[in-house]
Amino acid sequence: MVPPIYQTSTFHYPAEHSEVRPPGRVHLYTRLENPTLSQAADLIRKAENAEMGRVYASGMGALSAAILGSLRSGDEVVALEDLYGNTLTLLRDEVSRFGISVRWVPSDRSDQVEDMVTDQTRLLVVETPTNPTLRVHDLRAWSRAARKVGAHLLVDNTFATPVNQRPGDLGAHLVMHSATKYLGGHSDLLAGALVGESRVLESLRVTSETLGATLDPLAGYLLVRGMRTLALRIRRHNENGRALREELEGHPKILAVHYPGSHSEAEERLCRTQMSGRGGMISLVLRGGSRQAHQLMSHLRLVHPASSLGGVESLASIPAETSHRQLSPEERKRRGIEDGMVRLSLGIEDPADLVEDFRNALRSMD
Ligand SMILES: *Cc1c(COP(=O)(O)O)cnc(C)c1O
Repeated sequence: MVPPIYQTSTFHYPAEHSEVRPPGRVHLYTRLENPTLSQAADLIRKAENAEMGRVYASGMGALSAAILGSLRSGDEVVALEDLYGNTLTLLRDEVSRFGISVRWVPSDRSDQVEDMVTDQTRLLVVETPTNPTLRVHDLRAWSRAARKVGAHLLVDNTFATPVNQRPGDLGAHLVMHSATKYLGGHSDLLAGALVGESRVLESLRVTSETLGATLDPLAGYLLVRGMRTLALRIRRHNENGRALREELEGHPKILAVHYPGSHSEAEERLCRTQMSGRGGMISLVLRGGSRQAHQLMSHLRLVHPASSLGGVESLASIPAETSHRQLSPEERKRRGIEDGMVRLSLGIEDPADLVEDFRNALRSMD
């Protein structure tokens, strides 16, 4: 019932039986293919309802392969300006050195993305819900924009997971995951994944093998184990997100609660057609700014101060000091990242326990 870990770099080459093995089905070397890794990729592919999948050493490894494998000098990328920090760095500082240009789509103009693509656009990159403001973007509109100019749409589905959102069903050509987060689910591994149409994944094979961001088989085994409980865990993450939103919205010490659909009526409507659950990520803005944000973090007992997300334990971080510290204060302001913002990755604790923890912590704050 439990698949083995193929903890090997190389494989016995079946020279003596070569006539009974169809060509291409022979494992040669783990950077190219490994049965433990194929199994992890297959579980993610199935969850996303995709044709093919591949796992990588990290989310950034997956993204690097997707971006470098899809583009050449002179091409243009159209990307949401609100992407994960290292994805922004990859597009802004790394691929730009190879003659690839990026056209940034402001969060508030995301529904007009069809007007921003050009004949040079080869790839569109979007993420929804976003980090840390949990804005929701219309994947069908991004897919129409890609199709209009014959480009590919790449969606980072890390926050939503395939349990809550399947971008492939809405027209994405490639879906990327930081499997470090919800897919692994226990904060004990780094991994990434790409899934999509076979034609697109096949076109990235040589780049992926050559860049070498191959997952270690032991981490692949842990990822398989995480995938077995994904649906159950996400159900509880969703429940905890709903419970905390209800508890915290309108609290006198809280200025704003960011949650998928909380920004506008339009985003609320979009959530209903695009997502089947809203996840366990929620961000709060404390009235008392950074001082109160620190106070809240130190008074919480069940929620641990740490970056990253998607594990079974609840974590809290201050984006202005961690994930978004490299942005200027004006840049943060423009993106709605206040100094008093606390980002929560709610775990799978009992919702009543989490609510009580927040009640106690907020009460003890001055
Ligand atoms: C963490 C994360 C990444 C990067 O993944 P790594 O596994 O850390 O390389 C990319 N996108 C999002 C949304 C993330 O949360």
